Amino acid sequence: MEVSTVDFAIGDKFIEITGCPILKCGKCKKEIVGHRVVDAVYQIFFEFEKHPGINTCKTTMRSDIRFEYAQKAEFIYDSRDLNIPACDFDLDPTNKEGYSLPVYFDRKVLNGFYTDNDYELDFFSESYGEIGKKGVTDGFMNGRSHSA
Ligand SMILES: [Zn+2]
Repeated sequence: MEVSTVDFAIGDKFIEITGCPILKCGKCKKEIVGHRVVDAVYQIFFEFEKHPGINTCKTTMRSDIRFEYAQKAEFIYDSRDLNIPACDFDLDPTNKEGYSLPVYFDRKVLNGFYTDNDYELDFFSESYGEIGKKGVTDGFMNGRSHSA
């Protein structure tokens, strides 16, 4: 995924979106905009209908939307990553918005949890696992570690 400025022309309406997430094929370089961009363009087009005479709109896709589940831990993430296929879909409907979003942290912070008996860590692979405080059912977090 990349971010870029994308222009949309629909009839006589013109929309410019900066910071627009684009999915780019690594092989053939074909590009498509993220599915949340499609939703945003639809909403903007609906706004045009409510405001006759206005034919242009310049906007941006926000990267700083903070999700409820991540507020306490202050994770580093870009909310536009929800445009990455599979990051915006969750088979468990009880999970909150943004639950499958990748978050970034220094993997060294995990060392403290490994040695703390109050926490359980379960890593299925080098980049995917769970961490949680023992006895707290909703404190579990799935995570992908990212070596920076
Ligand atoms: Zn391709």
